[in-house]
Amino acid sequence: MIVVMSPQSTAEDLENVKKKIEQEGLQYHLSSGSERTIVGVIGDKKLISHFEDHCFLPGVEKTMRITEKYKLVSREFKGESSVIDVGGVKIGGNNPPVVMAGPCAVESMEQLMEAAKAVAEGGAQFLRGGAFKPRTSPYDFQGMADDGLKMLRQAADAFNLKVVTEVLDQRNVMEVAEYADVLQIGARNMQNFQLLKEVGAAGRPVMLKRGLCATIKEWLNAAEYIMSAGCDDVIFCERGIRTYETYTRNTLDLSAVVAIKELSHLPIIVDPSHGTGRRSMVRPMAMAAVTAGADGLIIEVHPHPEVALCDGDQSLTPADFKRTMEDLKKVAALRAEF
Ligand code: PEP
Ligand code: MN
Repeated sequence: MIVVMSPQSTAEDLENVKKKIEQEGLQYHLSSGSERTIVGVIGDKKLISHFEDHCFLPGVEKTMRITEKYKLVSREFKGESSVIDVGGVKIGGNNPPVVMAGPCAVESMEQLMEAAKAVAEGGAQFLRGGAFKPRTSPYDFQGMADDGLKMLRQAADAFNLKVVTEVLDQRNVMEVAEYADVLQIGARNMQNFQLLKEVGAAGRPVMLKRGLCATIKEWLNAAEYIMSAGCDDVIFCERGIRTYETYTRNTLDLSAVVAIKELSHLPIIVDPSHGTGRRSMVRPMAMAAVTAGADGLIIEVHPHPEVALCDGDQSLTPADFKRTMEDLKKVAALRAEF
């Protein structure tokens, strides 16, 4: 449920409400808007009912039940769109789309430096690259692990970029958090609830990819796990879903951009690389995503896609990326008029 404080309420009123929530065995989550403070109350359903019946406290304007299972991520809880600030790079709200780009996997320092240069010159803000790779076959390249993380940080710093990289396993959360600015949860782990709780408590923003077969509501609930573990900065990432179609690797669901914005205050970015699996489709789908209102994109870029250890077919060359970024700027400028 949410407790809406009246505009005239005092700091002491708010303290009382917080104290009462804790006394009832519940947790609170504050959201201060320009006019009102809203207190989200989460925890056991029965305890919430009890609290609701006893919530006649000074300074409280009204209380409201949030009907959906996901609470903290919902627009009902927070009407205003959240802006996530990653060391000065702002994602969401009315900010221009943010671009994260780089190879599927970190392969070598040389490959990464070339990729980082192309990505920075194209105007992206983040370097992406997997150090821990969730491969379909155990015999495929699994990533460079710790060495890969160090290389990512070094290459990103050399070109003034932020790092986004996947954390695959609970045991590596703190290690990845040491090198990355944003922790990525991959599609295959979207419902790894224990991992979601761990990343939620790691003190870093989290980019949550949509599961291969996940509904929008399952995805929102996965984000709720992260937020309820203490992380306010969750970014959704639509990366295509499984359908009967096989021409594309996945079916990119751009309507999810609109759905997430209707249902949640959190930002959403789009991955046209995994969403299509085809280089020729990345630029058009990136433009479509921005037109649909996406807060950013994550795009695979490899200096030499023909020798990539992973996902070469969907990776843009530096020249493709440059063109894509030029076109995206035009689309973003047009979008700003609507
Ligand atoms: C990735 O972005 O590196 C990746 C593995 O993507 P996904 O989890 O969406 O398959
Ligand atoms: Mn990939």
